[in-house]
Amino acid sequence: MEANEFRKHGKEMVDYIADYLEKVHMRRVTPEVHPGYMRDLVPSKAPKKGEEWSDIMADVDNVVMPGITHWQHPNFHAYFPAGNSFPSILADMLSDAIGCVGFSWAASPACTELETIVLDWLGKMIGLPSVFLHENGVGGGVIQGSASECILVTLLAARHNAIKQMQDVHPFVEDGMLQAKLVAYCSTLAHSCVEKAGMIGCVKMRHLPTDENFSLRGQTLVKAIEEDRKLGLIPFYVCATLGTTAVCSFDNIKELGAACEREGVWLHIDAAYAGSALICPEFQHLIKGIEHAHSFNFNPNKWLLVNFDCSTMWVRNRDALTNALTVDPVYLRHHHSGQAIDFRHWGIPLSRRFRALKLWFVIRTYGVDGLQKYIREHVQLAKHFEGLVRADSRFEILGQVTMGLVCFRLKGPNKMTQNLLRNINHSGKLHMVPAKIHEKYVIRFAVCAQHAIDDDIEHAWHVITDFANDILENCDG
Ligand code: PLP
Repeated sequence: MEANEFRKHGKEMVDYIADYLEKVHMRRVTPEVHPGYMRDLVPSKAPKKGEEWSDIMADVDNVVMPGITHWQHPNFHAYFPAGNSFPSILADMLSDAIGCVGFSWAASPACTELETIVLDWLGKMIGLPSVFLHENGVGGGVIQGSASECILVTLLAARHNAIKQMQDVHPFVEDGMLQAKLVAYCSTLAHSCVEKAGMIGCVKMRHLPTDENFSLRGQTLVKAIEEDRKLGLIPFYVCATLGTTAVCSFDNIKELGAACEREGVWLHIDAAYAGSALICPEFQHLIKGIEHAHSFNFNPNKWLLVNFDCSTMWVRNRDALTNALTVDPVYLRHHHSGQAIDFRHWGIPLSRRFRALKLWFVIRTYGVDGLQKYIREHVQLAKHFEGLVRADSRFEILGQVTMGLVCFRLKGPNKMTQNLLRNINHSGKLHMVPAKIHEKYVIRFAVCAQHAIDDDIEHAWHVITDFANDILENCDG
């Protein structure tokens, strides 16, 4: 494709995208296709000769769109939001066009430098202590592809540090023997990627119970650490969650932080969804105790109008991270090696996209005020939904509604709520997903669409109560 064709089709694509997002509410939120549906619609072999652009675009409508779950749809209330906004889309286009691969400072200086600056901006916006910022020279932030990666690399860093400390005391013991003694902790409500990080890192991961507010408390951790030390194990890493996936509950960072400090354990905080809300002063109390943390992550690609992928992570001591992840072949060195930031030492992949651009575009377009307004609107909409649920005595809510998630169920056996969710999702009128909280099956209602309004919330409640009436009338569950 030549530049003149690109100009033409590019403009058409922008129109296509604007139309899609403006009219997404006219589509069914979930597709009605079965596994393998696409095989009948697409040739089994790649075309030998290049095809017409118009044919390719026609197949976007005929082949791709029928199988899309529309995450930007106002009736999409599943999982957590998938961040999206026009400035972010445009910035990603530019990033694709520049097409640099910023694994080291020299590989594209602006790519690295903008990332350090924007991560400092964002760190200040969410109230991180200055030790986590690049401008301080000891810690700093980095963009990873996912929260799962953030948690994995911080666990690997903590493991590396713990083994090194043990080697100082037991210089003749094999690494593998030392590693077998390590134990990490999270709550039973931590995201499954924490368990996966333990699997990949080959360390024991203990899931600790939460209190009546679904919060992991300091005393529970201290008790587990004492038990494990008695067994000869070595506690080395805790992953606390701010905004659990199931119920958006908050671990007690102050208590956990004090315990980790005393015990010499690495504290990581996973705030994948809820971290965005920390830009509002009214949520800052949730990170009291952050001064004890070694690392922190949240996903602007969930709730800060930035498109996937953009998972931000900060460490208080960059050496503690890079010591665990540095390999240094000659072909990747440059004449500022050691002085400039080389982000390849801060994560797993070598190659990395210019993702700081979309964060920069979004923060500058909306400003902190605009982003706070967006977060507050979503919180308000969740409160509206909560009010509707609470006014109907057939339903109950589990957990506190703090941010944009409401977990509700029909009072009575789980089967009733299970059937309610199944019927709603089959209808394609709304899309929600379940969670199990202390053996109770709940439906998670997440406020997701960028421009969600009260009417969407009322529409959703109308659909839910219609289906609930059917279930309760038939009362066979
Ligand atoms: N942590 C929490 C609390 C989450 O809610 C999620 C996903 O929703 C994750 C981690 C995993 O995020 P990612 O898909 O970026 O790995």
